[in-house]
Amino acid sequence: MGLLTGKVAIVTGSTRGIGEATAKLLAKEGAISIITGRTEDAGEKVAQEIISSGGKAEYHNLDITDEQNVKKVIDAVYNKYGRLDILVNNAGITGPNKPTHEYSKEEWENVFRVNVTGPFLCTKYVVPYMQKENGGNIVYISSIYGIVGAPDVPAYHATKAAIRIMAKIDALLYTKDNIRVNSIHPGYIWTSMVQNFIRDQSKKTGLGIEEIKKNMDSMQPIGHIGEPIDIAYGVLYLVSSEAKFVTGSELVIDGGYTAT
Ligand code: NAP
Repeated sequence: MGLLTGKVAIVTGSTRGIGEATAKLLAKEGAISIITGRTEDAGEKVAQEIISSGGKAEYHNLDITDEQNVKKVIDAVYNKYGRLDILVNNAGITGPNKPTHEYSKEEWENVFRVNVTGPFLCTKYVVPYMQKENGGNIVYISSIYGIVGAPDVPAYHATKAAIRIMAKIDALLYTKDNIRVNSIHPGYIWTSMVQNFIRDQSKKTGLGIEEIKKNMDSMQPIGHIGEPIDIAYGVLYLVSSEAKFVTGSELVIDGGYTAT
C-alpha cells in the first residue's frame, strides 16, 4: 500500500520539471496521476513512463488560463473516477526579466493570468467536487520569491506572493469541508525555467552558462541548487494523511536560501 493508494491527483504543468517529478512520485505512492499541460507529446510521455513502471496516469491537454478547458478537464476526471482528492497548482511561467517600469500592461497581466488566475480557476472547479466527497488537498507551488523580494522578474515575484496568501485564504475557507490547503516555496531548482533564466542572464552579462550555474550553486547555503524531486517529496508529505494537522502552512524547500 502506498501513501496515496486510490487517490486521484491533478498536477498542473506536469509535462516537465517540478510537475513531472511530482506526478511521478504521487503515482509511485499509489495515486492516479492526471498529467496536464499544453505539450501533448511530452505529457503523453510522462503518463506512459508512469504506466510502464506500474503506476496509473493519464494525460489531459490543459491550458490553465482557459476557463472552459479547466472546467472540462476537471469534470471529465471526476466523472470518470467519481472522486478528486488532490490538486497541485504547479504550472507557472517566469515572464519578462526587466524592471517594473519597462513592463507593458499586457506583459504584466499575462504573468498574472497564468500564475494567479490559472490556479484560481483550478481551485474554483475542484473545490465543489472535494466538498461533495467531504475532503481533499490543494497545494500551491509558490516560490521563495513569494516570501522575499529580488530585483528581477517583478511580475513573477508578485504572482508568487499572491498565491501564498490564496493558499492561506482557501485553507481557512475550506477547513470545514475537510480540505487542507498549503503552499510550497521552492528555492532554485534545476528545471527548464531556471535553465532559460541562466541563458537569459548569459546573454545579458556575457558570462558563460557554466559560470552562472556555479555562481547560483554558491549562493545556496547548502552549496548547490535543488532538483525537482526535492519539491515533489514536499508535495507528497502535504497531501498525505501524515500531514493531517497541516493546513494554511508554507513549506520552504530552498537549501537554506531564505534562512540567511
Ligand atoms: P518549467 O520546467 O518551466 O515547467 C512549467 C510547467 O508549467 C510546464 O509543464 C508547462 O507545460 C506548464 N505551463 C506553463 N504555462 C501553462 C499554462 N498556461 N497552462 C498549463 N500549463 C502551463 O517550470 P518548473 O521550474 O518546473 O516550475 C514549476 C512551478 O514551480 C512554477 O509554478 C514555478 O514558478 C515554481 N518554482 C520553480 C522554481 C525553480 O527554480 N524551478 C523555483 C520556485 C518556484 P506546457 O508548456 O506543456 O503547457
